[in-house]
Amino acid sequence: MPNYVCVTCGTQFAESAEPPPRCPVCEDERQYVGWDGQQWTTLDELRAGHRADIREEEPGLVGIGCEPSFAIGQRALLVRAPSGNVLWDCIPLLDDEIGARVESLGGIAAIAISHPHYYSTMVDWSRAFGAPVFLHTADREWVMRPDDAIDFWEGETRELAPGLTLVRCGGHFAGGTVLHWADRRLLLSGDIVQVVQDRRWVSFMYSYPNLIPLPASEIQRIVAALEPFEFDRIYGAWWDRVVAEDGKGAAKRSAARYVAFLADRH
Ligand SMILES: [Zn+2]
Ligand SMILES: [Zn+2]
Repeated sequence: MPNYVCVTCGTQFAESAEPPPRCPVCEDERQYVGWDGQQWTTLDELRAGHRADIREEEPGLVGIGCEPSFAIGQRALLVRAPSGNVLWDCIPLLDDEIGARVESLGGIAAIAISHPHYYSTMVDWSRAFGAPVFLHTADREWVMRPDDAIDFWEGETRELAPGLTLVRCGGHFAGGTVLHWADRRLLLSGDIVQVVQDRRWVSFMYSYPNLIPLPASEIQRIVAALEPFEFDRIYGAWWDRVVAEDGKGAAKRSAARYVAFLADRH
């Protein structure tokens, strides 16, 4: 039986003879049902119409996306740490080209995902590379294809390897997570800390497609969660969404600006 994939959000569901009746991820107010109604595809169909887009972002950091863009359009990042490769975030497409390229780079030791919008086909990725998937337990209800390979972690931080730390920020999702790479002074932020068009800044939203902001308490919580960590560059969820320098300063300034607007004192 197929594992259907939602066309609008890219989430893959547990196997079923018929397409699922609805997509809870899209019906949530942080997403939306496609304008032509709920539609489904499968990984095989995706492979037929899309190809891999793999680019080195900087030494040791490889972006993995697809062409043409599908669903939310994020690209994943392969972190080539000395302790083993970590796949940060995930994309729906997984084909022979991606498999061969990732294997040539040393495979995947662990997969970690910022929030449910990028869970996509994580179980297929996990099985292809024999890697566990680390998700924050606060977002457990959004897992549409449960699997024994998923490790639901609890608390505020989880060290995947020395200097490679998952930090739970919350905000966009209760379990919203970023990945800090200490040796490289990098923050991989998904859209928990969203790199915006003016790439000296970031922002934080409850819903991006529906433009629903976060309360000040959540913004302050995110800044506090990041405070113990030093980082220069921030890699957001899409190609070229990168804060090139002073990332921590950018996050703090952006949070202060946001809270000032909320308090009507900008
Ligand atoms: Zn969906
Ligand atoms: Zn999202």
